[in-house]
Amino acid sequence: MAVTSPKRKQPAPTLTGYRAAVVHEFHKPLTVEEVPAKALEPGQIRVKVEASGLCHTDIHAANGDWPVKPTPPFVPGHEGVGKVVELGSGVTEVAIGDRVGMPWLGYACGTCDHCVSGWETLCLEQKNMGYSFDGGFGEYATAYARYVVKVPDGIDPFDAAPLTCAGVTTYKAVKMAGTRSSDLVAVFGVGGLGHLAIQYAAIAGGRVIAVDLIDEKLELARELGAEFTINATKQDPVTEIQALGGADQAIALAVSPKAFEQAYGTLRRGGKLVFVALPADNHVTLPIFETVLNGITVIGSIVGTRTDLREVFELHAAGKTRVIREVRPLARVNESIADVEAGRVAARIVFAL
Ligand code: NAD
Ligand code: ZN
Ligand code: ZN
Repeated sequence: MAVTSPKRKQPAPTLTGYRAAVVHEFHKPLTVEEVPAKALEPGQIRVKVEASGLCHTDIHAANGDWPVKPTPPFVPGHEGVGKVVELGSGVTEVAIGDRVGMPWLGYACGTCDHCVSGWETLCLEQKNMGYSFDGGFGEYATAYARYVVKVPDGIDPFDAAPLTCAGVTTYKAVKMAGTRSSDLVAVFGVGGLGHLAIQYAAIAGGRVIAVDLIDEKLELARELGAEFTINATKQDPVTEIQALGGADQAIALAVSPKAFEQAYGTLRRGGKLVFVALPADNHVTLPIFETVLNGITVIGSIVGTRTDLREVFELHAAGKTRVIREVRPLARVNESIADVEAGRVAARIVFAL
């Protein structure tokens, strides 16, 4: 007969492994398989993932598209949302049961010049979720308590997921653009990022021109507040936007250097071009003379801070933004990547875990 003492505390069942989508080799399909759960380090938390968005960055990661590459095997995903189930030692920022978003900026040092001046996204010590450590494409994920952001009650986790990268990135890009009321804002690319960029630019008071290659995406852009739309396979965005007086700001979200060059060409004098997309083909050709004489600003914008993400969640909770997403099981990860690459997705795919 087994004897149990009522005074003795039962240890929490230890998680030994969980299902996740793993990149083993660049350009090869991901495999959904059991991966071992690692013990938490101080400051880390374990999250039971509910929803995890598929960002085009995950596709770049799986293809090793960028100059700095992740090291396979790894689990992509930096739009993971779920509930905290385990706390590492020293964690005070979140509690068991809190719902959190786990963004690209998975960790930063907290003390360098960038971190202390509100530019944690530029920290040289940063670690990136789903890139330099395993991300949200799994039933569980490990994150750093200081760098997750609590999802306010009332926000659907399947909305919170795209907001955790696509939302915060474009919200920040519009801040970087400095959009003010009546500015003409050209948004190049109406994908996961673009469909939210249109809304943030409109919230800032901008009049939005959306540019894409696919008519359905432009229809969605109009529904979300774009005043003008241009299909760049049928019309030249430079000619069309210059005919409107030129854009005060252009935001480059399309995975194509050509779109960056066109976006540049749409600017009016004194205009600003914000680089956001990160195509594998890493170079654009821009003219020096016109940049100088026209007083053009070109600026890069990388995701956003925890404060930016809190603001993004607040806006959504207040009913100011709409997230267009399709929920799929993680087992469809490879088909979903192909669909994003072919532009067959309305805006964002979110995996249900
Ligand atoms: P997505 O595939 O969902 O959207 C891209 C959109 O661009 C699609 O609608 C596509 O039809 C459109 N497009 C393609 N070529 C075009 C062209 N020549 N002209 C106009 N439109 C064109 O991708 P996403 O998830 O929105 O990500 C976009 C890019 O942003 C990726 O390169 C991603 O890595 C990058 N990204 C950057 C940051 C950052 O912090 N800077 C953050 C997240 C994602
Ligand atoms: Zn992303
Ligand atoms: Zn730092």
